[in-house]
Amino acid sequence: MENLAFDAVKDLCTELGADITLVQGAGGNVSFKHENDFWIKASGTWLADANRSAIFVHLDLKKVLAGVEAGTNDFTSAIIENIGLRPSIETSLHAILPQAVVVHVHSIHSLSWVVRTKGKEQVAERLNGLNWAWVEYVRPGLPLTRVIQAILKEKPETDILLLANHGVFVAAETAAAASDLLNEVERRLLPPAQPSRQLDQTKIDALAKMLPHGCRLPANPMVNLLGQDPRFTELAITGSLYPDNVVFIGPSFTSVAPSDAQALENALSVTPFCTIIEGMGVVLASNCSESVEAQLECLVLLCPTLPDITELKYLSNNQVAELLNWDEEKLRQALDKSRQAAKKGN
Ligand SMILES: [Zn+2]
Repeated sequence: MENLAFDAVKDLCTELGADITLVQGAGGNVSFKHENDFWIKASGTWLADANRSAIFVHLDLKKVLAGVEAGTNDFTSAIIENIGLRPSIETSLHAILPQAVVVHVHSIHSLSWVVRTKGKEQVAERLNGLNWAWVEYVRPGLPLTRVIQAILKEKPETDILLLANHGVFVAAETAAAASDLLNEVERRLLPPAQPSRQLDQTKIDALAKMLPHGCRLPANPMVNLLGQDPRFTELAITGSLYPDNVVFIGPSFTSVAPSDAQALENALSVTPFCTIIEGMGVVLASNCSESVEAQLECLVLLCPTLPDITELKYLSNNQVAELLNWDEEKLRQALDKSRQAAKKGN
């Protein structure tokens, strides 16, 4: 019974991980509880890999909850089966939710609203009647868990959490019920599309001819719209709207003029090893990782759903620095680098 339920969770992970509008790269996480057994996605692994490799860390739920009470975010001592990976940075939050299946994604539909200054009111109109709660932005990990503990104390029936500048959590007793709930939230949060440019292939062809040695164009041609639509360029280089943008793309995503070879060389030699070429598209250096590319895809899906920049709330410099200086996020970046190196070695 427990195995069947867990298999259904893994199938759900594979399904979610294959949908870029829900999960981008190593983002998002899923957990499953059965009595005192607690499985959660390991940090840095991809949900899409759930049925082909070990992505779950098996933990002792009581020990994790005791750790949360004691104020730790290191759950190494609660690991039952060691697969050589650390549990997700969101472990404490998954643990305190009482439901058996907890799903967290940075879906385009949820991001589109949670990055807006009036996001809370706009979400309230759309999720009316559901057991949802709005969570103001705090750094993921224990600080976020503490805020959600307080919400659950007030409203224990909550099974949907909309996290400002971050994403969405849904919780249910089975994988099927969690999937249904997520679908319902996604359906209600479908954002209206703003007018945007059509992809211009002639500009991509021109960009291909001027590529510096060893560089490439994005695997998904649509990513080039980040350069071709001036509104998208502005949205992308103004700052970060959510943590994974900070962690993988970094605090300084740039755009360069097509004629400025020096600026292009400079931009490609530092994180995120890719840059926007104004009016044309996006160029990636050879060491630009798959996670960065997944984040670029996320941005280009998000941009057409975003309102004017004045209606958006970007993460502050302090919030960005807090993420970049946090050891857990440094670990995620290191895991991404080693994943990329292993791919190259294959
Ligand atoms: Zn997250």
